[in-house]
Amino acid sequence: MPDRYIWIYDTTLRDGEQAPGVHLTPEKKVRIARALDEAGVDIIEAGFPANGRSEQKAIRMICKEVENATVAVLSRPIKSEIELCEDILSRANSSRLHLWIATSPIHMEHKLKLVPDDVMERTMVGIRHASGRFDSVHFTAEDATRSHLDFLTDMMREAVRSGVDLVSVADTLGCALPEHMTLLVQHLIGAVKGRVPIGVHCHNDLGLATANTLAAIRAGAKQVDVTVTGIGERAGNASLEQVYVSLLFHERHLKVKTGIDRDKLGSLCNLIMEEMGISVPLYQPLIGENAFKHESGIHVHGMLNNPMTYEFVDPKDFGISEGGFTIGKHTGKAAVRFFLERNGYAAAREEELNRLTEAVKERTAEKGPFLTDDELVEFARKNGIELVRRGVV
Ligand code: MN
Repeated sequence: MPDRYIWIYDTTLRDGEQAPGVHLTPEKKVRIARALDEAGVDIIEAGFPANGRSEQKAIRMICKEVENATVAVLSRPIKSEIELCEDILSRANSSRLHLWIATSPIHMEHKLKLVPDDVMERTMVGIRHASGRFDSVHFTAEDATRSHLDFLTDMMREAVRSGVDLVSVADTLGCALPEHMTLLVQHLIGAVKGRVPIGVHCHNDLGLATANTLAAIRAGAKQVDVTVTGIGERAGNASLEQVYVSLLFHERHLKVKTGIDRDKLGSLCNLIMEEMGISVPLYQPLIGENAFKHESGIHVHGMLNNPMTYEFVDPKDFGISEGGFTIGKHTGKAAVRFFLERNGYAAAREEELNRLTEAVKERTAEKGPFLTDDELVEFARKNGIELVRRGVV
């Protein structure tokens, strides 16, 4: 059986931009959309037109620029809003309307102030109005993981009858566990009898967005919502790079594929951070400054013998720069020897190398944090360590 193709639905420009403090001008949104298109995402959620004129202008510009991906916009099930979206997407090569409404008791009662029957009615009127105006329409149940399963199921079945092309469930608060997503996706596939594919939208409030997304894929989900770097509301969304590298690394086990161009991953992440003016934690998976950097003596020793000892993928394959090594409190002899050699030096004797290693550990433990290559040579001299010149390796 050929590998199942997963649609990557990127919402960096919509959910990602909703991250507090993030603001994108139309020009920035266009540059990001172009990069997403080039990186091979299937659907680009370009924004929420009801947000205002700047957002509408940005989406219109994006429609003209994007060549391969489908351009999607988010809309409430309101006729005038759907028509606005239709007009805005008229220049897209392929258009997608993303209709959503909340289905959990707390959202219906305290936010929408609607009874479930009215939520159902309003949504289906919206879907029927949208049907045929776009190349595809998908419906998301917001806060699906805190919704009553019976009501959620009824909504999804009715949505299919009303003409949607895909139904999606959002773990809007990021509070689900992977096994919940597995059961939910399996249940919905049965409920819609395979008539339309299932999508998921996972948030990261428990640090499980990637795990939940992967669980959904294994359960049969066709579309996954992601953002580059995981940026999004609160703790963010499932990250494109984490989901993608997981799928790629476990390709033979999961038997799924995507259209992502792996060489472009690193530059795409860098572009998002630059355009959005954000940085990620040092220890962020795959793209944090420390994600491929090593200091501990045992690890560096292993890395010098074979990088695969402590890196399961080569960052360069993804256009992510090598992390290299730092010299610090946890440094071992192999690293000190390596750093000296890189600068064209060697310790005169093994005993000198041992002394230098000890001195480095003591100095960085007391005064931290790191020494650079140059500082190491200088430090060795100051501590009376005898070095000899070698060719630079
Ligand atoms: Mn969201």
